This record gives sequence, structure tokens and C-alpha cells, in this order.
Amino acid sequence: MTPASPMPEVIAIDGPAASGKSSVARAVAQKLGWTFVNTGNMYRAVTWAVLDTGIDPSDPAAITAALDRMGIDFKTEDGETSVCIGGKTLHAELTEDRVNKAVSLVASVPAVRQKLVAGQRALTRLGSLVMEGRDIGSVVFPHSRFKFYVDASEEVRTARRQAQGHVDQISARDRMDSSRKTSPLVTAPDAIVIDSSHLSLAEVIDRVLADLATRGLTPPTA
Ligand code: C5P
Repeated sequence: MTPASPMPEVIAIDGPAASGKSSVARAVAQKLGWTFVNTGNMYRAVTWAVLDTGIDPSDPAAITAALDRMGIDFKTEDGETSVCIGGKTLHAELTEDRVNKAVSLVASVPAVRQKLVAGQRALTRLGSLVMEGRDIGSVVFPHSRFKFYVDASEEVRTARRQAQGHVDQISARDRMDSSRKTSPLVTAPDAIVIDSSHLSLAEVIDRVLADLATRGLTPPTA
């Protein structure tokens, strides 16, 4: 008889815009051999679809009505999940200035959150996940044993975004993300908070891995 496969685990890595959480989550996933899930890209993909079809991003009813026609799907390649809209995999489109501007509005629409959260939860069919976002530890996987909140000062985060060559309304997005009614950006009470303002990416990754190791989760040996 084949032994039952162990329950998939989820490491939740939340934080504000440009805090470095995606790079940390990707690296931790690679170390553990788990699937990396960038949920910000899911909200960005829906926002791109809203704009591409000419829907007003400040019209929740129109967005809700169009959601099921967008053909939102997830694809996994090289240990990472990416988002497809109507069969098209989006990459550069996700960081267009117009997407940066509108994403927090679209992400505040309850029907958008319901649809994406259901999709995020279903990804455990792939096995264990390292998932980054705003509400992963608080709403999507509140029972996760491993929760981190990666923060950094607004100055540092703005400088990081500029270095990536993107125009991004970081403080406006943070304000909207923290004040929306449905699943606002919050620090889960049981999350380990890491202020990355004065840490290198490698140092943040090391802190996460060190904490996981204290709880018995270590990368497989090669
Ligand atoms: O992480 P990133 O900055 O790419 O996220 C883009 C936007 O998507 C956020 O500003 C937020 O409005 C939304 N988001 C969210 N919940 C998540 C991930 C992202 O509302 N779990």
C-alpha cells in the first residue's frame, strides 16, 4: 500500500509594495523545492484585463460582471505559478504604469478577491507552496504554521522600485491596500516581522531559512 502523501504546507510571506517579499519568497521556494506563488501578479493580471477591455477600474459592478468572461487561469512552470488571461501568459504587461495605478482599486473589489483567493487555495494541489501577497497569512491560509511579514521603510521601498525602472505609486497603493474593507493588508498576529530596510536580500532570506530551521523545516540536501 502506498503511504498517504503528507499534507501540503504553505509558507505565507506578506508585506507592503516593494518590500522585497517576492524575491525572498522565490528564493525560499527554490531552496525548499516548493512552488512559488506571486499573488500580486494575479491581481495585476485581472487589472490588465479590466483595462484592456475598456472597463473603468473604479466601477466594481462592471468588473464583477466581466470577471467570469476573462478566462483567468494559472500555469506552473519551473516551480513558479504564472497567470494567463484568455490563454495569454502575461509578463511585462503586469508592471505597466497603468496597471500600477489601477491595481489597488481592482483588488478592493470583493468578487475579484473571492475568485483569486479560491484559485490560490486550490494551488495546494501542486504540493507545498511559498505564497507571497498581502493577505496570505491573515485570510488565504490563516492556519499556516509559517507566516512572515517583510517590511521596509517607505524611502527604501521607493528607491528599490526606482532602481527597477518602474513608476509606482507605492504610498498610495499602501494606503488603499491597508484601508480597504475586504482583506486589508495587516500583519497576522502570529507572523514573524522582518524589517528589511537595512538588510540585503541574502540576509532576509537567511533569516527566514533560519527561522524555518528552528521549526524543523530545512532544505533537502542535494
Ligand atoms: O505585490 P504587488 O505590489 O505586485 O501587488 C500589487 C497589488 O495587488 C497590491 O498593491 C494590492 O492591491 C494587490 N494585492 C492584494 N492581495 C494580495 C496581493 C496583491 O490585494 N494577496
